[in-house]
Amino acid sequence: MRKLATIRRIKSLQPIPDRDRIELAKVDGWNVIVKKGEFNPGDLCVYCEIDSVLPEKEEFEFLRNKRFRIKTMKMAGVISQGITFPLSIMPEDIEPDEGTDVTELLGITKYEKDSKLPRFVHGPRVGRDFPSCIPKTDEERIQNIGGKHWEQIKEIAFYLTEKIDGSSATYALIDGVFHVCSRNRELDRPTEGKSCIYWETAGKYKIEKHMRLASLDNVAIQGEIFGPKIQGNPLKVEERQFQIFSAFNIAEQKYFDVQGLKEILFMMQPIEGVPLINPIGLVLEMCPQDYIIAMADGYSAINPKKLREGIVFASMDNVDSIYHPFGRVSFKAISNKWLLKHE
Ligand code: ATP
Ligand code: MN
Repeated sequence: MRKLATIRRIKSLQPIPDRDRIELAKVDGWNVIVKKGEFNPGDLCVYCEIDSVLPEKEEFEFLRNKRFRIKTMKMAGVISQGITFPLSIMPEDIEPDEGTDVTELLGITKYEKDSKLPRFVHGPRVGRDFPSCIPKTDEERIQNIGGKHWEQIKEIAFYLTEKIDGSSATYALIDGVFHVCSRNRELDRPTEGKSCIYWETAGKYKIEKHMRLASLDNVAIQGEIFGPKIQGNPLKVEERQFQIFSAFNIAEQKYFDVQGLKEILFMMQPIEGVPLINPIGLVLEMCPQDYIIAMADGYSAINPKKLREGIVFASMDNVDSIYHPFGRVSFKAISNKWLLKHE
């Protein structure tokens, strides 16, 4: 579960030109507008990330016209993401510790896009648990990466891919049996007359046949299905498509490195990988996080008329990391331009 509200420290405060009642606070990698004088650098605060929905309580009434939802906003020429509160909003009997997740305690929930999607997008409700031998797809936001984790990241060579806003799909051959999964569930083959985009995609690209021909047993391939009827088809493509972003070696419990992934992509043709963004093998040693976030802005390689959602950074080689137990070190930088438009 995402930690939407946590106790964090105000790293720094910066004036905003021509504004004397507000200032810009830095909380980890996030920039957030605060009331001037409310915090001092080094103070602890409650920080709620974008996508938070605050409970309908008196202290949050000022957010009613926003339906209590926290979004990315541009004000006074700066981008502000999230909201900070003084520790006084916490129940008195709680000792606030830096890093503590207070999402549940404060009754904060996650904003979900209107999920009135046709049933076939989700697949049959009668799914089973996601196979425990495969990691679910997920990426941490760069703004939440700091300390030792960021130190490690700064030494790694990355390849960058376009983040596509569709539905995550995992296809696997486990001991000779083909499995089809959505983000969180394994999905049974739909019965006659029923359809399911994950199985439809498997059929369209003959994924099972390809995997068997390439002897990809005990391998999972993971990618994004996008197009009509999925998340509003933001890239406005005509046909539903599937593109691969990672491959997992089940026997070794490790992701394939970039070389292994390239070989798998070669064998899975005509299925493509998600669009690659230059430069390949980028090391972020000199790059401040704000610079990387700005790099996420750009147009999609799939439809150059549309903004891309962002960039996913993944290590070229497998790395031993307590933060990424399966060898692939990765994170996402979501484009603020995209957020301002789509949130
Ligand atoms: P959050 O946790 O930030 O609320 P979320 O968990 O719903 O968001 P996303 O923001 O969609 O997830 O980011 C992670 C997902 O991005 C992965 O599960 C994967 O399906 C998808 N994705 C799309 N494009 C890529 C890509 N190029 N590389 C890796 N993952 C990608
Ligand atoms: Mn996530």
